[in-house]
Formats: sequence, C-alpha cells, structure tokens
Amino acid sequence: MSPIRNLVLGVLLALVALVGVLGSAAIALGATPTPQQRMDAQAAWMASVLHVPVPTRPVVVGGLQPDNVGEADADGVIRLAPAYANGSPGAVYARQHELDHRPGNAACWGEAGSAERALEEGLADAVAQDLMPAAMHRFAPQWWGFVLESGYEQEVRNVRYASAAATGRPWRSREARLWRRALWGADCDGRVAMLARVGAG
Ligand SMILES: [Zn+2]
Repeated sequence: MSPIRNLVLGVLLALVALVGVLGSAAIALGATPTPQQRMDAQAAWMASVLHVPVPTRPVVVGGLQPDNVGEADADGVIRLAPAYANGSPGAVYARQHELDHRPGNAACWGEAGSAERALEEGLADAVAQDLMPAAMHRFAPQWWGFVLESGYEQEVRNVRYASAAATGRPWRSREARLWRRALWGADCDGRVAMLARVGAG
C-alpha cells in the first residue's frame, strides 16, 4: 500500500471515528431531561436573572387534584401534574410560578382565601409572567408562542396596579416590573411596608 493510500485510509478511519464520537454526543445531548433536572436548571436560571437565591426543590409528579397543575408545599416539595413536568411552555410557566413560592417566605403565604395568600399568588404569578419571554427563549425556543392561562388573573391585576401606583409608571414599564420583583423578593414585613407606601396595604 502506498503512503498516500495509507494516509487516505487513515483519514477515512479518523472520520469514521469522529462520526461515531459525534453521534454518541448527539444522543447524550438529546437525552430527555428528567422533571428534576428541568426544575434544577430553571431554578438556577431564575436566580441568575432575578439576583435573588431561588433554591431548587424536590419534584413529585402527580398526586394533585384534577384541576391543579402544580403546587408548592411549605415543606419544600413542588408537585406538578404530569402534563406540566415536561419541556412545554405551560410546564416552563408552571415551574416558574411554583419556584416563585419560596419556602424562606412561607411565613407570609397566609391561609387559603386570605389577603396574604392572594398577594402571594398574585406576586408569584406576576413575576412568573414577567419572566416568560426570557424563559421561553431559554427553555422552549422551538415554540413560537403559547396562550398563557393564569389561574390568578385578578390577583395579578392587583399586583400590577400596585406596581403602577408605586412607580407612577405603566405596569409594563421597567420601573414597575422591578418594583414587583422587589415586592416579591422582600420578606413579610418588607412587603407590608412597601404596600403601605402605596396605600394598597
Ligand atoms: Zn401558586
């Protein structure tokens, strides 16, 4: 065999090996993340965007009432309905909302039906909705859009109204959005104080 043919054969063998390596890498990259891996990745991303610690939480899939897509328990567990534990836009939104219920703030979650609970849900959902465009870009770029179905429309409206009143700017403005984030990131006393300043507390 001539040196040139040897070289050609060597290059071909190297190419075959490279294709093999790339193929396995593609399979590894294409592996479907588990619900827990998705939660971990999204919590880390939210913390980096919000500049506030957003601890990830153990995920349990299922075990919810039929009309419930997700639930954050004060013991730290996040429960998700099976259809909201995957990579769909609705799942990105559900994870965002549940991660916004931070166990460190569980003291101000309030009882079901209370004003504190309405504020907590409104804040969790308002911040989740504010983050959705960036979250979609990061976690579901293959989707062109989706219709967001919030279970907390009135609560979110109240939070947006307060943010507009506090900043004197439209609720969609950067100032109002940052105020909502600050209210969400505040501890229980901090929330009361911020709301008292706008006369909404
Ligand atoms: Zn909630």
